[in-house]
Amino acid sequence: MTNSNPALSNTGLSNTGLFARAQAVIPGGVNSPVRAFGSVGGTPYVVERGEGPYVFDVEGRRYIDYVMSYGPGILGHAHPDVTAAIQHAASRGTSFGAPTENEVLLAEEMCRRIDGMDMVRLVNSGTEATMTAIRLARGATGRDTIIKFAGNYHGHSDALLVAGGSGVAQQGLKGSEGVTAGAVADTVVAPYNVVPEVDESVAVVIVEPVAANMGLIAPQPGFLQGLRDACDAAGALLMFDEVITGFRLCPGGAAEWSGVRPDLWAFGKVIGGGLPVGAFGASAEVMANLAPLGAVYQAGTLSGNPLATAAGIAQLSLLTPDAYEQLTATATALQDGMTEAFAAAGISASVPRVGPLLGVFFGAPLPTDFDEAKAICENVIYERFFHGMLEHGVALAPGAYEAIFPSLAHTADVVTATIEAVRSVAATL
Ligand SMILES: *Cc1c(COP(=O)(O)O)cnc(C)c1O
Repeated sequence: MTNSNPALSNTGLSNTGLFARAQAVIPGGVNSPVRAFGSVGGTPYVVERGEGPYVFDVEGRRYIDYVMSYGPGILGHAHPDVTAAIQHAASRGTSFGAPTENEVLLAEEMCRRIDGMDMVRLVNSGTEATMTAIRLARGATGRDTIIKFAGNYHGHSDALLVAGGSGVAQQGLKGSEGVTAGAVADTVVAPYNVVPEVDESVAVVIVEPVAANMGLIAPQPGFLQGLRDACDAAGALLMFDEVITGFRLCPGGAAEWSGVRPDLWAFGKVIGGGLPVGAFGASAEVMANLAPLGAVYQAGTLSGNPLATAAGIAQLSLLTPDAYEQLTATATALQDGMTEAFAAAGISASVPRVGPLLGVFFGAPLPTDFDEAKAICENVIYERFFHGMLEHGVALAPGAYEAIFPSLAHTADVVTATIEAVRSVAATL
């Protein structure tokens, strides 16, 4: 699709020109591996700016964007309220190393929305949130073992990278070089959607309550409650990694959506309005183990950053119950339209949806765990679909393991244009 807005890079270079320069000074040309188009081939578009549901590349080409920074852009790009909040905060100083009012307001708003979460600690990424929450769980229980599920992604800390979804899966790596055997010795990996055996050595079971990093896979009925019961029986803690689902599925995230209350939560993405932020939270009793109250240490020079908290507060204030209804309606329209377009073209595809979250699998039936997801995601159809959509002006994530993120800026017209593109591309698959 072409551009109404010619947008030029400062260097005047094209996507290819800039990406070539990027590769000389940034490994693979990217600061996060999935962005490199490694699993779909080709050269990434280099973003010049975003506006509402669109991103524009440095050549002025416009795309309807469903990457949305992998989740933070729930209002659409450059929402005026978020932009104004950041500008106002920036004009008053960017970081102090002392408490600020906005940290209090953001923490209060998060705790208000999440039943059972009394306190949060703000950090700078989802990776930091899960990594530190694991330490907190170990400190609080005096136990070492953690259980995670294959295909769930919890950021790139050593103990959690094993059998991660998302970019780890796209690279075809089981975990990562550079992670010692010792670092993962206490990590047990279990298949998703099966309640594992939890014994009294287990500090915490960490789970994506709706898995969104191996394509979109919903928890089977009873899975999350089964984890709750198994953890209770063993005196282990249950952590929901809500870095994607938090403040996206509904006001109270996956805990409210599922009716299962974990002991620990990890957040990121939506709560920062596109600025670097993460958070973990729990009851006052569990959080009392954290320094300076308790003996579990954690710190951060930029944590609770004034720009990030201002953006997060502005973003959350717009995420009303009506907003979630609108997001769900948008996702449902996309699901229906895409399903119909694939069927019309005779393509075997499934378009799973959980509330406002969407995915696509080129195969059926819907996978329920990582092995089934891999069997589907490793066929080359996604790659062809991805490039076809890009040519039709729709940017999906450059990897079959990622979710589709409609925002509040994706209006009915934008959805219609997306479905028309799907129809055209499906006919070519
Ligand atoms: C993105 C993600 C993370 C990691 O967050 P970063 O901010 O990228 O470090 C952790 N858990 C889940 C479920 C995620 O989707």
